[in-house]
Amino acid sequence: MSITIESIACWLVDIPTVRPHKLSMTTMGCQTLTIVRMTCAEGVVGWGEATTIGGLSYGAESPEAIKSAIETYLSPLLCGQTFSGVAALAQTMNASVKGNTFAKSALETAFLDALGKSLNLPVSSLLGGALTQRLPVLWTLASGDTEKDIAEGQRLLAEGRHNTFKLKIGARDLATDIRHALAIKAALGEDVSVRVDVNQAWDLTTAIKGMAQLQAGGIDLVEQPIPLWDRRGLIALSQRFEVPILADEAVATSHDGYALASDGFTGAYALKIAKAGGPAQALKLAHVAQAAGVALYGGTMLEGTLGSVASLHAWSTVSMQWGTEMFGPLLLKDDIVVHPLDFSDGQVTLPQGPGLGIEIDADKLHHYSRR
Ligand SMILES: [Mg+2]
Repeated sequence: MSITIESIACWLVDIPTVRPHKLSMTTMGCQTLTIVRMTCAEGVVGWGEATTIGGLSYGAESPEAIKSAIETYLSPLLCGQTFSGVAALAQTMNASVKGNTFAKSALETAFLDALGKSLNLPVSSLLGGALTQRLPVLWTLASGDTEKDIAEGQRLLAEGRHNTFKLKIGARDLATDIRHALAIKAALGEDVSVRVDVNQAWDLTTAIKGMAQLQAGGIDLVEQPIPLWDRRGLIALSQRFEVPILADEAVATSHDGYALASDGFTGAYALKIAKAGGPAQALKLAHVAQAAGVALYGGTMLEGTLGSVASLHAWSTVSMQWGTEMFGPLLLKDDIVVHPLDFSDGQVTLPQGPGLGIEIDADKLHHYSRR
């Protein structure tokens, strides 16, 4: 079974967030989704999404650059070609385009959606098969205000929507950030897992001080405390503290994961389809981590439902020791799908049906698309 790609269309979709989302490098009030529609032979249509966080303040690809890479370089490589699966698709893209993993991820997702629909199989089956239909999902408290974050966490616990929380820190001085994190941990209680994401904001000296206090205060996991280039520092921190490190920006591909683990890193890797170049590519990093005894975590670029579901199909095929953070759709005021995901009891349900199992709302896509 193979599939021929006929045409590819691309939109920039701007959707406001439900509240300001404060990260170490920027504060988000709107999220831009780069949406791809891949039309294949016999009228089969696949959808994909590439979404990044905070424009160029987070990474090297902006939504506008992702759209341009797809339209100018990647689409002409793929249209008119027939592919038997994601291996051939990735080989064709990688032979002519370096990097640009966000753009490639949207296209790999759209291809998997189309292939699944034509075979009448869910995307998870094309990636090895789902081990579970429900995946744990934490929530990120990032209003920038300690009292507001505590109130938000307590409300979500009472509603039963989430039971695990991640805090975004690193924008303020260390003492303020530690006070903030430990006040939230104390307020939410012993039984609630609280983690922090520093998004590379500390140097190694600050991280040693900070991690000691976070560990003593009962924080469960510290995500990417130092810059992505400081691999030796990350390995040293992972060996020095009992509180585990979650490597995020430092590990994009299977090569990064192999290098970090073989040099002595212990802890966990955050998988993201956009970092790796698609759901199938992200699983290569997962398999390297499994081989090295490094734990797994399903990460988000704060995608909407389309990108989150593409990730969930991949995450469902491996054991995620630290769960996932696929809450992106809940941070957006609206979305471009007909049926929203079911988030309840700290979990999300993998959609059923062929391909990704989601339906795009054409009116909403049109409404939110940038002119
Ligand atoms: Mg992170």
